[in-house]
Amino acid sequence: MSKSGKTHIETLAVHAGHEPDPATGAVTPPIHLSTTFQRDIDGAYPRGFMYGRYDNPNRHMLEACLAELDRAEACAAFGSGQAATSAVLQALKPGDHVVAPLDVYFGTAKLLKEVLAPWGLQVSFTDLTDLDALKAAMRPNTRLIWAETPSNPLLKITDIAAVAEIAHAAGARLACDHTWATPVLSDVLGLGADIAVHATTKYLGGHSDVLGGAVSLKRADEFHERIRLIQGSMGGVPGPFDCWLLMRGIKTLALRVRAQSANAASIAEFLAGHPMVEAVHYPGLPDHPGHEIARRQMSMFGAMLSVQVKGGQAEAMAAVARSRLFTRATSLGGVESLIEHRKSNEAPDSATPDNLLRVSVGIEHADDLIADLDQALRG
Ligand SMILES: *Cc1c(COP(=O)(O)O)cnc(C)c1O
Repeated sequence: MSKSGKTHIETLAVHAGHEPDPATGAVTPPIHLSTTFQRDIDGAYPRGFMYGRYDNPNRHMLEACLAELDRAEACAAFGSGQAATSAVLQALKPGDHVVAPLDVYFGTAKLLKEVLAPWGLQVSFTDLTDLDALKAAMRPNTRLIWAETPSNPLLKITDIAAVAEIAHAAGARLACDHTWATPVLSDVLGLGADIAVHATTKYLGGHSDVLGGAVSLKRADEFHERIRLIQGSMGGVPGPFDCWLLMRGIKTLALRVRAQSANAASIAEFLAGHPMVEAVHYPGLPDHPGHEIARRQMSMFGAMLSVQVKGGQAEAMAAVARSRLFTRATSLGGVESLIEHRKSNEAPDSATPDNLLRVSVGIEHADDLIADLDQALRG
């Protein structure tokens, strides 16, 4: 019986890709550090493994697990989120056109502008929450729309089903950076995306101790063949211990993401009524512009939020300095709450407001997090 299909994500997170070790019966898989694998006397590789760059038992388990979580036909794992993103973009050809959101993850914007545009990829940035603007940005040679929802740092929501329709009508694929919503909150391939990309560094790992990336493909078609070619020949693959840590983290993925999202919802509601707060950006708030779409395509509203404090950069930084439970650090998705003055971590020309703090909500008790934010904001 297939473990995917109707099986719930909590069950998949524990079982998909996991089998007790056939050699020893070990319930937790061993870490296979070997870079090379023995051939049979007839020259064959009967266990399917040949050389560590092409495949490794730990990576194999991770890819099988992620494919099931994403309800995908195939998944390829990489050494970072950016290596996964690069693989998808390099599977295109020089001269192909890509449409990406204006507020795409700044690392992806940098990759597109400074690495892939000089290589020959044509790139347009547009507001993907405005479907007319997206339609106007499409060209005859558009081969890929890159979406990211919720977006960074304003938590804008892109309508995946509507964008998929526009992509497919133009003969293009839709790739969605699924790092923030995760397979727990949204089934992007089911909504119409062709490719889900993850920075597994974030929620999938969940403990801020491993970098990784993955590309899940709805169909194991010729685009998947290109991704495999790039994975094996460019070699941006994850190490066995990284894969093992990810498999360990994924077992609690659903529990963590739900707890974190519930905490974030409580915090967003609290901040929305706080006298020192100018604005809260969280798709779970009814007045958020993407609220209705988020309700349709997500089961909860996620664990990321941004808050604009009254005043400017100095007031925002002072509040961060007073926080005791939110660690001052970039990144997201770990069990510990993080807070970041976002603009000073982005490029100098960033459009992020001076008074904006980005918060990654962890699994601590919501009341403790709220009390800490309250004292930090009041000063
Ligand atoms: C962190 C992140 C990435 C990049 O992942 P790395 O593992 O740091 O390379 C890409 N997209 C989003 C949305 C992210 O949050």
